[in-house]
Amino acid sequence: MPHVIHQPISRKTFLKTGLKYVGAMSSIGLFYNFTQGKEKTSDLHLALLSDTHIKAYKSEQYRGFFPYENLQEVVKDINEKAPEMALINGDVARLDGQLGDYVAIQEILSDLNGIPLAMTLGNHDDRQNFYHIFGEAEQGKQIIENKHVLVLERSDMRLVLLDSLMYVNKTPGLLGMEQREWLKTLLEETDDRPVFIFFHHTPYDGDGDLLDSDRLFNILLPYKKLKAVFYGHSHVYNIADRGHIKLINLPAVGYNFTDNQPIGWIEAHLNKRHGTFLLHAIGGNREKNGEVREITWS
Ligand SMILES: [Zn+2]
Repeated sequence: MPHVIHQPISRKTFLKTGLKYVGAMSSIGLFYNFTQGKEKTSDLHLALLSDTHIKAYKSEQYRGFFPYENLQEVVKDINEKAPEMALINGDVARLDGQLGDYVAIQEILSDLNGIPLAMTLGNHDDRQNFYHIFGEAEQGKQIIENKHVLVLERSDMRLVLLDSLMYVNKTPGLLGMEQREWLKTLLEETDDRPVFIFFHHTPYDGDGDLLDSDRLFNILLPYKKLKAVFYGHSHVYNIADRGHIKLINLPAVGYNFTDNQPIGWIEAHLNKRHGTFLLHAIGGNREKNGEVREITWS
């Protein structure tokens, strides 16, 4: 079986160990390597999901959408496409990240056909409950107190998964100084491979956005190797720019907030020079289902 970034732990282990959070200074830990150090020349084929919003009971619905069924359908789709990795960019749970929510999510995700999965946390997640069910990432985990941060790499690129969860079930997010300083060091001390960053919150200026987004971009903008930032939160599919950096807002899997938005996931192919993004719309506005957007990094 291929490496699984999040290995669910059994209920028995969970009862025995609970959560161990060791207070430690932030440091750059070992990276998860997709290819066991081998040279990789093909594109990175990714399934990108966000805002799955799963509740413990399967019949939960919002605005006429059924998140549980949506995620089941998406998992089927992903198995067919067989990407190298799948990623859920936060708001994995419906409202306040109950243990039962993660048990339900784990149940659906266990149908993924051996595809490694990584997740970030959103404002509707609970970090401790998330760890109770999914455990710590087996590889790639970085030591930053009270933050779930991963670095995943191949010979030709790096993915950095940040943690913008500030308060459970309150809208705004924050990376915080420790995580920003860690990121600055990472960018300074690593080679020139293209970097792609993932976190949940919208990096804008509103009261419900990522509150330290300007401080984040002050760190990112000087680095040409920083190609794109991926986020969710708004339940909107959109691609925009900030300086040379592409801002890629992933659609929600669970439900939309406005009828004009699709529900679904993005199948991405990334390489050093460009990315292609294929929209798999399974609900909501399906007009652009199958649309491919090609982006050349600057
Ligand atoms: Zn959401």
